[in-house]
Amino acid sequence: FYRPLEKINAVIETYPRGLAGFRSYLDLMATQPDIADAPDATAAPPLRGAVRFEGVTFGYTPDRPVLRDLELEVAPGQTVALVGPSGAGKTTICSLLPRFYEVQAGRITIDGIDIRSMTLASLRGQIGLVQQDVFLFAGSIRQNIAYGRLGASEEDIRDAARRARLDALIADLPEGLDTVIGERGVKLSGGQKQRLAIARIFLMNPPILILDEATSALDTETERAIQQALAELARGRTTLVIAHRLATIRDADRILVVTEQGIAEQGSHAELLAADGPYRRLHAAQFAAAAE
Ligand code: ATP
Repeated sequence: FYRPLEKINAVIETYPRGLAGFRSYLDLMATQPDIADAPDATAAPPLRGAVRFEGVTFGYTPDRPVLRDLELEVAPGQTVALVGPSGAGKTTICSLLPRFYEVQAGRITIDGIDIRSMTLASLRGQIGLVQQDVFLFAGSIRQNIAYGRLGASEEDIRDAARRARLDALIADLPEGLDTVIGERGVKLSGGQKQRLAIARIFLMNPPILILDEATSALDTETERAIQQALAELARGRTTLVIAHRLATIRDADRILVVTEQGIAEQGSHAELLAADGPYRRLHAAQFAAAAE
């Protein structure tokens, strides 16, 4: 009788409510169902967010490595943007940090602790994911935000909504926070859904953040609201941004140009432009395309 419940509990504990990409998580679990706590795993302490990839090699099939001997270090609170051609491995790098996949060689540490020695719940509970696919369930806006942290107070929920630039929308709705969304309720736009996911992460308040920037075009005003909310969300948290549009990552502490051969170059926006390498070429190509 308890078995199914235990299973549900395990899923809920392992996949903290802040994790916005629920569907992706299901997809991922279908890919590597064998990822589980090590027998001697212990709960990670509250993390500062010093992230290190040490000689990481990984491929979805062992004979086809996507990452080879990758070295990457991010100081607590820093924002690192990953740019580069499609298929280069940006998403893959980010998927390894919450241990959606297991590295084949090398190791990943946070605050010097190998992530494989942490329980999955304590690791994933400290990584906020903002993905393109937002997982919302049929229920009120309040319930959907509160999913970021059960037991959050009314004040905390309102504060998260405000920081995610959702307050104007909520004020416009007849039932405010209690407005039901989904098939039987109000349909939210792509930009509104994204802000709802951002509100969840504000509530979750994790030390580490992974942002998968939307590729789909949003109107300029929505775009600006989301960029502002994300900039505020990233402040003081170790952040990895998968950037598709270079205009949005100028302020990153460091930009990594990821190619199939590995990290081709890294530096600040100004440094990389001056270096006259692949970043400068990507930049020129993107602005030329935008001007067309
Ligand atoms: P994009 O900018 O298009 O999102 P990316 O740089 O994030 O690209 P990844 O998604 O990390 O690139 O993909 C790196 C390589 O791994 C690609 O060759 C891709 O086809 C492959 N790949 C990605 N996900 C999987 C998966 N779940 N199973 C098998 N191969 C995968």
